[in-house]
Amino acid sequence: MAGQGLTQEINARWTRVRGVLRAEVGDSAYKSWLKPLGLVDFSNGVVRLSVPTRFMRDWIANHYGRRLSDLWCEGDSLVSEVEIFVLSETQDRRTQTPFQPPTEASVSAMAGTQVLPDRVKGDVSAALDPRFKFENFVVGKPNELAYAAARRVADAETATYNPLFLYGGVGLGKTHLMHAIAWHIREHQPGRKVVYLSAEKFMYFFIRALRFQDTMAFKERFRSVDVLMIDDVQFINGKESTQEEFFHTFNDLVDNNRQVVVSADKSPSDLEGMEERLRSRLGWGLVADIHATTYELRLGILQSKKDEIGAVVPDKVLEFLAHKITSSVRELEGALNRVAAHASLIGRDITLESCQEVLHDLLRASDRRISIEEIQKRVAAHFNIRLADMHSARRSRAIARPRQVAMYLAKQLTSRSLPEIGRKFGGRDHTTVMHAVKKVEELRTNDTTFAEDVDLLRRMLED
Ligand code: ADP
Ligand code: MG
Repeated sequence: MAGQGLTQEINARWTRVRGVLRAEVGDSAYKSWLKPLGLVDFSNGVVRLSVPTRFMRDWIANHYGRRLSDLWCEGDSLVSEVEIFVLSETQDRRTQTPFQPPTEASVSAMAGTQVLPDRVKGDVSAALDPRFKFENFVVGKPNELAYAAARRVADAETATYNPLFLYGGVGLGKTHLMHAIAWHIREHQPGRKVVYLSAEKFMYFFIRALRFQDTMAFKERFRSVDVLMIDDVQFINGKESTQEEFFHTFNDLVDNNRQVVVSADKSPSDLEGMEERLRSRLGWGLVADIHATTYELRLGILQSKKDEIGAVVPDKVLEFLAHKITSSVRELEGALNRVAAHASLIGRDITLESCQEVLHDLLRASDRRISIEEIQKRVAAHFNIRLADMHSARRSRAIARPRQVAMYLAKQLTSRSLPEIGRKFGGRDHTTVMHAVKKVEELRTNDTTFAEDVDLLRRMLED
């Protein structure tokens, strides 16, 4: 397997894209430039193609980038973006050379080349991602309210909680839940018309209607819709008159009993650049927030994604990832995909070591975010002990317990080894750190107040 999304559909499109390009550029240019492209992965609307060298990547991006992305994205394609990255030959299994982690250059190239389509499709509703269904959504404490509300709206036959306002940080599952609502309604109530689109697209249609003095038609168009979902409404801002008109359209829909679902990265009251009246209107229905993930949820998501992509990943690796990649589910998925794609490319099993190597850049970035000193400072302040006691030899429980918590968090939140952590705590032995980690884990399962304390500290540190 080479990535979670290489479905038949994607493979078929790739065959078609290549066929068209070949006809357009001719055999010899095709053989030199386009044939070496490899289809590696598809997820979240992004197709990833690999090339063997940087030079080729730049050439292809400059000469064929626009055409490639047009062909990939045209019609009602699932693809919205094409990324070309350099996969050096040493990483290719054909050469049988020992595994080497991606170089700095190949990683930045990966982030660097993006060919964005700049067209807006003619139809109103955007394509739905087939993986974004309720069955594939892992429910945990941080998202249970949003999930329950989404399910309720999807099951209802008339408008409930109008609007349903889902909000939360980047990559925490807002779009996933919206698509899931749409899939569910399409399947169980095919008579209802569901439209899902980004706020940007909504505004595009809207402003176009204003320009052509055609807002009546605009309203009609959306009035024929039973369920309207607008994703990322934080992008709705701009001129007062535009917002005014939007406000009326929105009210119209709700008054006519159309279900409206919106998402944003902030709560209604925190939306900047939006008129007070519109903000408060958006908060009238049910406002459900998705909180930052917990370790348990991340582990659950990894387990389910692992099955989805059919990769064999040891529990140790999943636990490691759940500890280290805490920023968003999107990054978590990306990390798992990278590890799995790599293992399959070089034809080896996934191990903790290979995982650390493949993700060294990501892990370093997360280490930069939190230092052991910072952890010690926070924990000392939280338990009201002196910072110096993190290093001292004092063993009274009031001191030793916080110190153990700090060691535990250092193990969880940084990628420092046990001996390294020991050194930072007044030159203690690695077995002392190991003992601390075990102790805290044990206390966490037996004492919920303690567990909450530790989680709180952890969340504060991760922010
Ligand atoms: P947002 O719209 O909040 O930025 P997305 O809905 O695009 O985030 O989610 C990012 C990625 O993480 C998607 O691939 C999505 O499937 C996945 N994801 C997020 N939350 C969950 C979850 N609870 N269970 C399974 N996958 C999830
Ligand atoms: Mg989204």
